[in-house]
This record gives sequence, C-alpha cells and structure tokens, in this order.
Amino acid sequence: MRIDALVVGSGIIGSFVALALHERGLRVMVVDRGGLAPGTSRSSDGNLLCSDKSPGLMLELSDRSLKAWTRFAERYGNHCEFDPKGSTVVARSAAEAEGLAELVRAQQVEGINCRFLDAGWAEIEPHLGPDTVAVGHWPDDAQVQPMLACYQIARQLQAAGVPYRFYQAIEELEPGDTGVTVQLSDGGRISAGHVCLCTGVWTNEVLAPLGLSVPVEPRKGHIAVLERGDVQVNSKIADFGYQAAAESTEVDETAVQTAAIIEATRSGTILCGSSREFAGFDMSVNMDTVQRLLADCVGVVPDLARLRVIRAYAGLRPFSRDGHPIIGPLPGAERLIVATGHEGAGHGLAAITGELVAACVADGDTHPCGGQLHPERFA
Ligand SMILES: Cc1cc2nc3c(=O)[nH]c(=O)nc-3n(C[C@H](O)[C@H](O)[C@H](O)COP(=O)(O)OP(=O)(O)OC[C@H]3O[C@@H](n4cnc5c(N)ncnc54)[C@H](O)[C@@H]3O)c2cc1C
Repeated sequence: MRIDALVVGSGIIGSFVALALHERGLRVMVVDRGGLAPGTSRSSDGNLLCSDKSPGLMLELSDRSLKAWTRFAERYGNHCEFDPKGSTVVARSAAEAEGLAELVRAQQVEGINCRFLDAGWAEIEPHLGPDTVAVGHWPDDAQVQPMLACYQIARQLQAAGVPYRFYQAIEELEPGDTGVTVQLSDGGRISAGHVCLCTGVWTNEVLAPLGLSVPVEPRKGHIAVLERGDVQVNSKIADFGYQAAAESTEVDETAVQTAAIIEATRSGTILCGSSREFAGFDMSVNMDTVQRLLADCVGVVPDLARLRVIRAYAGLRPFSRDGHPIIGPLPGAERLIVATGHEGAGHGLAAITGELVAACVADGDTHPCGGQLHPERFA
C-alpha cells in the first residue's frame, strides 16, 4: 500500500499534522502504538498561551498558533472546549511587578494584546490573594480540552476516509530517496512518500535502529485536580515564576521545580500545576511534589485550600535542549520529518506545527522559520 504521508503518533501534534496534510489533499494514514493519544497529550493541561513566553521565536509561534486554533474552531466547529478565556499572571512582590510590567511592555511591542494592572484586578479574578501586587492580563490566551481536540480531528479525518491504525507500533523504518518503507507490529508493510514522526518523548526509540537521534528527553510534570466548588477561576492564572520555569533549559537531574498554574475546566474542576523534573520515563505520582505545587497554587489563590484534591497525575513533556520544538527533515534521512520537542507548549503550538510540517511535505519548505526549528541546528 502506498500513501503520501504516514503520521506516527496520534497525540495533539500528530493530530494537527494529519489534519494539515489532509487539507493539502495528500493521502494520509495515522498510526499509533496505543489507542487515540495515549501519550503526553492525555496527561496535561490545555493552556494555549502567549503570556508565558519571552519575545522571540516561541512567542511568535504561539501567537501564530493561537490564530490557527481560532481558524480551526471556526472552520470545523468547536467540539473541544476551545475557549479564549484569557490568562492572568500574578506578581506578589515589587520586584515581580517590575518584571511583569517589563514583560507586558516587551510583548506589546511585538503586537501581543496584553496589559499591566496595578489595581482593579478583582474584576478579572476575584479570588487572588491579599499579597497580590499587580497582574498582567492576556485576554486572547485560550484553553482547550486536548483529548477532545484529538477526538474531533480523528472523527473528522476518519469520516473523510483517512485510516487510523491503533495498537500498531512502528517496528522498522527503511528511508530511501523517494520514500520510506515502514514495518508495523502486525507484520504489515506500508510505503509512504514521507513519514512524519510525531512521537513525542519516544522519538529516539523509533530513530535508534537507524543510528539517528534528536536531543529530546522527557521532563516530568504533575497536575492535581480539585473538586468543583465555589472558587471562581475565570482565566488561566499563573504566578510570575511560572514563565521562568517553563522557559528554563537547564538539565539538573536532581532539581524539582514547581510554579503555580491554575485553570478551571468546563466541568467545574480546577487543574493545579505544575512541576518540572528530569526523571527518565517514570510517570509515578510523587505526593511531595503534588503538595509543593498545591502550596504554590494556594499561595496565589488562597481560597483553593477549601477544595479537596480528587486526583493527581503525571506526564512527560518532550523537552528539547534549546527550548524550541524540533521540526523538519532528518539530516541523512530527508523523507523522515520529525515534529517533537514542544515541552510544555505542545497544545499551544500544535496548530502551527501542523501547518509547518504540511508546508515541508507538500511545498518542500524544509527549513521553517529560517531553519531555527530544523533538527540540524544541533549538529
Ligand atoms: C503536566 C503537563 C502539563 C502540560 N500543560 C500544557 C499546557 O497547558 N499547554 C500546552 O500547550 N502543553 C502542555 N503540556 C505539554 C503537552 O502536553 C505536550 O507538549 C504535547 O502533549 C506533546 O504532544 P505530542 O503529540 O508531541 O506527544 P504525545 O501526546 O506523547 O504523542 C506521541 C504519540 O506517539 C506514539 N508513539 C510513540 N512511539 C510510537 C511507535 N513506535 N509506534 C507508534 N506510535 C508511537 C505514542 O503512543 C503517542 O500517542 C503539558 C505537559 C504536561 C506533562
């Protein structure tokens, strides 16, 4: 069987890549070794944010991707709780307020819709603690339910005839000059013009037999879910320190970083994050870490202390060494396109990633963003 593009991985990145390739009129197939989106996309929040990015490539991509998410919901319907509810960053000292004011100014220069408030934030978020000094508000930031987004895309593509093959692992890849032959775990073989590896933290497992690799490794994160209650959380709320944690690229094998990030879901539960640590592929929940991140969140929104924790889980962010996603053909195997390394912004960046990969496959635009995302930048 010969197809134009085989998408490996049905997480949020593979979903948007498959959709964008299909929109270009290519014959696409999606393969996952589990069911739909069994990896990191299932164990995360769903924030689509500009507020946690310094000016630069990541901010530009996030802004473009938020617009692409909006187009997605307008074109296909909003069946994934996409909600441009905004985000609020909280400063709790004069020094943090100064840093936050600077971030807002710098983002405004880049054309991002955001503002700094040193009073009057109760209209936006009524439950912030009494030590709040200032807030930054990004009204266009959004939230989505990532699993519903993957379901929406899968349903739509399957209805259009795109095959999804679940519980099929890629066992072998044979890249050639005109395409790639793929051996699946059920013994089937598929020939594709391109193979798009949207395999998140497991990308090097797939590449290892070819002697290839990309600098992606798992960075674990925890989330605690609070019961429904009377604490109003209108936007996504983060403490000022969250951005530094999210943007850090230091690999300290012993440190566990936590910073508050709080979001209410459509069903009324509240997700409290977040932690960052390098713990290999271990996804077990560490209650000390959960307690630390809950303390961070209660510091920002003290009323959360009255809600009970109903569950906690951990997931593995695909961390890339320089903090930027890795998108493009692999040097030495140009028909293999990787799209990974989105760390804690994979949902936010999924829509633009789909467009960049489709441009690479369909238009031969192999160096999106001037090569800044290309795997060869690490050579
Ligand atoms: C605690 C936490 C909170 C987060 N919060 C946010 C947030 O608020 N906003 C945001 O934008 N991002 C967030 N993220 C990050 C986001 O979840 C990831 O960046 C994103 O899910 C990565 O998607 P992916 O499709 O690349 O990976 P995955 O979802 O892991 O998909 C990879 C897929 O590849 C498949 N696969 C792997 N190997 C094979 C093989 N050999 N054969 C077949 N299939 C294979 C896997 O089964 C899997 O389905 C968070 C992450 C965590 C852990």
